[in-house]
Amino acid sequence: MYFDNAATTPVLAEILEEAEAYLLGFANPSSKYNIGQSVKDKINQVRADVALLIGASNPENIIFTSGATESNNTAIKGFYEKWSELNHHYITTSVEHPSVLKTIENLATRGKIKATYLPPATVCDLEELNFQIAKKKATFLSVMMVNNETGQKFPIQEIGEMAAQHNCFFHVDATQGISKVKVNVEDLNIDALTFSGHKIFAPKGAGVLYLKDTLSIEPLLHGGGQERGLRCGTENVFAILAMGVAVRYILKYEDKINQHYKACKDYFISMLNQYNIPFHLNEKDAVNSILSIRFPFIKGDALMEFLDFKHNIMISTGSACGSNKKSNDNKTVLGAMGFSESEIRKTVRISFGVHTKMKDIKLLVLGIKNVFSLYGQYEYS
Ligand code: PMP
Repeated sequence: MYFDNAATTPVLAEILEEAEAYLLGFANPSSKYNIGQSVKDKINQVRADVALLIGASNPENIIFTSGATESNNTAIKGFYEKWSELNHHYITTSVEHPSVLKTIENLATRGKIKATYLPPATVCDLEELNFQIAKKKATFLSVMMVNNETGQKFPIQEIGEMAAQHNCFFHVDATQGISKVKVNVEDLNIDALTFSGHKIFAPKGAGVLYLKDTLSIEPLLHGGGQERGLRCGTENVFAILAMGVAVRYILKYEDKINQHYKACKDYFISMLNQYNIPFHLNEKDAVNSILSIRFPFIKGDALMEFLDFKHNIMISTGSACGSNKKSNDNKTVLGAMGFSESEIRKTVRISFGVHTKMKDIKLLVLGIKNVFSLYGQYEYS
């Protein structure tokens, strides 16, 4: 039973049905003969569908990459490279994914830009954020749509208006937002938006970089001119077409998907209450599909291992990418949100997906209840 959909999602059955045809259509989309052009047409159909999903009126502003990490790197470094003569000050939140934080840090430590990392509470305090943008004369603002560890939603609409007033480039990592939050890049004043296919029910290997103005960045990869020269290299046709199936699925079922996430969360919480299992949610303003939750009677990693070994249930203690970090820079997201070491140690992340079943949620709660019966009398610190 899988409750780690924020790390990656199972692939849709609809994609498996089409997979063979996509692999057999092997031609290079840059080839001018018929079968090459038919692959190119299919890629452009995905481009149009992605544009529809995120409210971009021109599909040509959608660039396909290998995933959100590459899209984030391209937006962040590409903007600097394009306008390297400016005095850059990048502002971001201290809870961004490492593909944003480390990329900005890299530019800053090489002396290319100045950078400010604001705690989430400061970013959500719009007056303070406005003050920071003005004071630092920020050229680039990067705020994620939804946090990958806590599910916290950021006020992208208000921040977008502010960035536009200050003429500051606005980048939004929407990797955890797509399918959970309705997105219209034009209404939200977003200059660059990024996400990965494998978080929205497609296989790994394709991502999206939307650019309001394709001249606003310098490409990172030069070569054969694919993706309007902004991301050269023969396209990952299979992953892009599969992502197209997922995008069309979201276009069709977005409301249903979100009703399902809400039902999953409500049921999970009601079952915990029914069995009198004590818990604390770390974030209130979160999407319904990601729960950062702590149980006072057990450490998060112990609960994760117990559920895995005893019940074949998969949850996580944080983000999958966080597990590759050195131990001393672990747990930064909850730390930046002001949680104590002890609260952080007890935290687990439970994330629902479209395949999550109520009967599995019940088994998850029964697994936690089992742990509670064994250790409920203890309070860990
Ligand atoms: N941004 C966020 C918010 C994420 O959750 C992730 C994946 N954990 C990424 C970026 C990077 O995505 P990928 O590993 O697919 O490049």
